[in-house]
Amino acid sequence: MNRVHDSAPQGARGTARPAPTDPHVVVLSGANVVLPTGTVNGGRVIVEGTRIAGSAPVGAPTVNLRNHWVVPGFVDMHNHGGGGASFTSGTVEEILKGIHTHRLHGTTTLVASTVTGDMDGLAQRAGLLSELAEQGDLAGIHFEGPFISPCRKGAHSEELLRDPDPAEVRKLIDAARGRASMVTLATELPGGIDSVRLLAEHGVIAAIGHTDATYEQTVEAIDAGATVATHLFNAMPTLGHRSPGPIAALLEDERITVELINDGVHLHPASLQLAFHHAGGDRVAFITDAMDAAGFGDGRYMLGPLEVEVSEGVARLVEGGSIAGSTLTLDRAFKRAVTVDRLPIEDVVSAIAANPARSLGLYDRVGSLEPGKDADLVVLDADFELKGVMRRGEWVVDPQLG
Ligand SMILES: [Zn+2]
Repeated sequence: MNRVHDSAPQGARGTARPAPTDPHVVVLSGANVVLPTGTVNGGRVIVEGTRIAGSAPVGAPTVNLRNHWVVPGFVDMHNHGGGGASFTSGTVEEILKGIHTHRLHGTTTLVASTVTGDMDGLAQRAGLLSELAEQGDLAGIHFEGPFISPCRKGAHSEELLRDPDPAEVRKLIDAARGRASMVTLATELPGGIDSVRLLAEHGVIAAIGHTDATYEQTVEAIDAGATVATHLFNAMPTLGHRSPGPIAALLEDERITVELINDGVHLHPASLQLAFHHAGGDRVAFITDAMDAAGFGDGRYMLGPLEVEVSEGVARLVEGGSIAGSTLTLDRAFKRAVTVDRLPIEDVVSAIAANPARSLGLYDRVGSLEPGKDADLVVLDADFELKGVMRRGEWVVDPQLG
């Protein structure tokens, strides 16, 4: 966005111009605006400085977005990297590049996920990521592993997995210096329930995932304070008629937000519909679970210590062929949900912004287009292609240049 630089010209006579009293205001008008109360056709969104405002001064500059949608900026609570960069192993510059890659695709709030590593390495990584959270580039840190089940390890290295000892869980969240958002763990393992309690006490989300739990064990973990299902359906027992497993427990409980990877690879469309049917519009959170290749391209990558081959956008471990994260970006998840899954756009907006924001405890700042919140928004055309991204009042992708 072109900001007005209000400095007095060199050598100007007389008094310098007064400091601007109005912060930068811009009115986005004429779009279909998706609000928590529903969609307003021909609505407008007023941006004042870094925030959404309730009214605009007369004559404020206007961007005409007729035939476009304006929706809240996307919130990704489970993301391992992108743009060629890994949040688990990249340098600060690489991590920032990964974050920027996802911003270009509409993700204005991003939690960085790590994969299983040794405890010292993870603690060190937590320190580095916490600095990026401190400066506002990340919304928090998600530890996926090492406290997960060897039976459902997915793309995590087996020799580094361990039971969820509360003292070790504590060590990781301490290393994150108040920036740990979530820990994914297999709560049925020894120490699992105590670890869930510890996380809940510290205001960190205990997420049930990479788990081999039964239905009953999952209910116990939810009662202990777990609130998220890590990529529901993936890396957990399937739904059986006599052994409903974690899926039934997670879908039926109002306290649980279920993550879904809507890339057309991780889930059958009917499974996605089943989750929406049971978890409604307010408990589903779309995530990318993206790895380095997201927004980058096919090729060989490392996911933590494991080698991954990405071919036609599908990431698989070189050894064993397990799906190894995705190359998804949330703009693609959005478009697919509306055009292929035929979900109501309001439900899609909830799943991609409001619900993850609420789950992370950030809904007072992001996740919907309401006055006082951060001016984070995405502009889509009539075909749901991304045309603009604004983060904290600045265009990351300017719809007028697109
Ligand atoms: Zn993941």
